[in-house]
Amino acid sequence: MIDTAPAPDERGAPPDGTESASELRSALRAWLHDHLTPEVARAAQRSPDEEELELLREWNRRLADAGWAAPAWPVEHGGRGADIDGQLAYLEEMSGASAPGPVNVIGVSNIAPAIMTYGTDEQKARFLEPMLRGDEIWSQGMSEPDAGSDLASLRASAVLDGNEFVINGQKTWNSMGHLADWCQLYVRTDPAVAKHKGISCLLVDLRTPGIEVRPLRTITGEQPFAELFFADVRVPVTTLLGPLNEGWKVAMTTLSFERAGVARLHLGLSKKLAHLLAEPESARALTDPRIRQRVAGIYADIACMRWMTNRSLEQMRHGQPTGATGSMAKLSWGRTEQKLADLAMDVLGEASLLGSWSYNLVAARQATIAGGTTEINLNILGEMGLGLPREPKPA
Ligand SMILES: Cc1cc2nc3c(=O)[nH]c(=O)nc-3n(C[C@H](O)[C@H](O)[C@H](O)COP(=O)(O)OP(=O)(O)OC[C@H]3O[C@@H](n4cnc5c(N)ncnc54)[C@H](O)[C@@H]3O)c2cc1C
Repeated sequence: MIDTAPAPDERGAPPDGTESASELRSALRAWLHDHLTPEVARAAQRSPDEEELELLREWNRRLADAGWAAPAWPVEHGGRGADIDGQLAYLEEMSGASAPGPVNVIGVSNIAPAIMTYGTDEQKARFLEPMLRGDEIWSQGMSEPDAGSDLASLRASAVLDGNEFVINGQKTWNSMGHLADWCQLYVRTDPAVAKHKGISCLLVDLRTPGIEVRPLRTITGEQPFAELFFADVRVPVTTLLGPLNEGWKVAMTTLSFERAGVARLHLGLSKKLAHLLAEPESARALTDPRIRQRVAGIYADIACMRWMTNRSLEQMRHGQPTGATGSMAKLSWGRTEQKLADLAMDVLGEASLLGSWSYNLVAARQATIAGGTTEINLNILGEMGLGLPREPKPA
């Protein structure tokens, strides 16, 4: 187990937002060398059980206390104010060392930017620090049984009654929902206007009476998600994040700080391919030209993702729009994850049926659904990237 008490001087160079990418890289490398344990690295390889989760929460606290949980966050909120090059250096070092990021990843990467942009001073003071340290785990309640890709058609509702909202409805595919303390919840607050205009965002304590959380088991045997049921749940109006009925804008703010995050995708794939090629069975399999061709194909896919990422980071550095690059990277990542998972089975043969590669085969199925399905990303690419006519909308 890691020692939980942070040393007072653990932070190293003070994160004042002026450190260069190479300074950040060296400081992080030294810190990881001193603090990362094999148990922590292992615990993050799949959905953690209770003991691993506790270990990862401790790791999250340690990262936060040392200023390494969210380098892209502004210094005033506990980050390092890292620019794009610093963020990239951070991702490369963390990936290179197989170091997990904060366990409260949805809170830190997706919800915090929205709170920093739209939150009141009270909301920022109340939520950001425990979110950064993983003391309070957050989930995101967007999808419903009939509202996934078409998020704007969500039906869970909140009706204002005096100083409270009364929430009714259902959410699903709520990642970490069964572990979470809080949910960033999207609800319909005005059913009379165009569907994306009548949505609001609430910050809801999942221990509020009337909320039922049912874990969902997936093909991997894990329970990474939950369904949430709301029956006359009363929450104060102060839970509103951003203006009433402008939840769509709040939703679109996701990921606005962590702009180099797209590099995570090819870094993760490169590491996985290297891992596969280092397996003892790979040398024999690589004598087969058909296998070599598949390996080369995946290698080329990863290289294209890296160049695409570099191009979009360069556009960001110059303040230029990155167009449909995010969709292209997501599309390419999902497909390559699955190609690599299939290749591993063929390379390793029976050996793949045990351990992490068989887990990886089934876990890779989600890659073409989560965060925007393949078809939705193809639509975005067609419309934004190629300028094709917009998808017809049903009347
Ligand atoms: C690992 C994982 C984590 C997730 N975490 C969360 C979370 O934390 N919070 C949350 O709210 N949700 C979460 N989701 C849900 C995710 O956002 C949805 O699964 C996703 O948006 C797709 O919605 P859906 O499942 O309802 O499928 P649908 O939208 O019903 O789509 C079904 C099929 O139809 C296709 N399709 C839909 N519309 C079109 C179109 N216009 N053109 C062409 N094809 C179309 C889709 O591509 C798909 O193949 C998660 C999902 C996964 C897999």
